[in-house]
Amino acid sequence: MAGDPLIELRDVNKYFGELHVLKDINLTVGKGEVVVVIGPSGSGKSTLCRAVNRLETVQSGTILLDGQPLPAEGKALARLRAEVGMVFQSFNLFAHKTVLQNVSLGQVKVRGRKKEEADRRSRELLERVGVADQADKYPAQLSGGQQQRVAIARALAMGPKAMLFDEPTSALDPEMINEVLEVMRQLARDGMTMIVVTHEMGFARSAANRVVFMADGRIVEDRSPEEFFTNPSSERARDFLSKIL
Ligand code: ADP
Ligand code: MG
Repeated sequence: MAGDPLIELRDVNKYFGELHVLKDINLTVGKGEVVVVIGPSGSGKSTLCRAVNRLETVQSGTILLDGQPLPAEGKALARLRAEVGMVFQSFNLFAHKTVLQNVSLGQVKVRGRKKEEADRRSRELLERVGVADQADKYPAQLSGGQQQRVAIARALAMGPKAMLFDEPTSALDPEMINEVLEVMRQLARDGMTMIVVTHEMGFARSAANRVVFMADGRIVEDRSPEEFFTNPSSERARDFLSKIL
């Protein structure tokens, strides 16, 4: 079962102008827990992830990481970003840096590691995600699946307490989806705390401790995958599942 709370959202509300995109969100993710977030497009899944990493501010409510409120700015904010790794749909690698440089850069700039130490660690992580042989190439020379695995290695290089994945396989060709999901499954088995927005229901069934279903800015269901997939309690979730399964 889940350990102590690592990520906590309490009564969080977020507006874009008049648009109310996160409505009274309450969500606790325990240490080592994997929470998969699903729901229709526009339901607020990305905004939720971005709020946890403070890429978006919220108008009300509290977000805690390891019991501490999120810092607003400055060095503390940079540290927060290092402690909550984020992987996006688009791989967001630096195009003019090699794979190795991509993974090492933040370690030197934010974590203050020596370049040799950072590179050594980067090579270990590239090995772990299965792209060690690509270290000296540029992102454009890699497949989408390889680039996404580099993006995961780059986030891990910062030594995060948690990882957020926002549709990490949505931009990939079908044959590359599994190699990325397999890296994520391994991370989950190693005990990483993860929030994963995905449409990959096989991943949700096999790797999630909980499935959170969002619709119209609200968390409509928050249950075990078994319960969610066999017996969703809301009409919204039943309707959503009937469209994607
Ligand atoms: P999801 O990831 O579930 O598709 P999002 O969190 O991206 O949903 O978006 C939730 C709602 O907020 C949508 O209606 C979207 O159009 C709106 N939205 C997202 N980002 C912005 C923004 N920067 N400015 C204005 N509206 C936004
Ligand atoms: Mg989204």
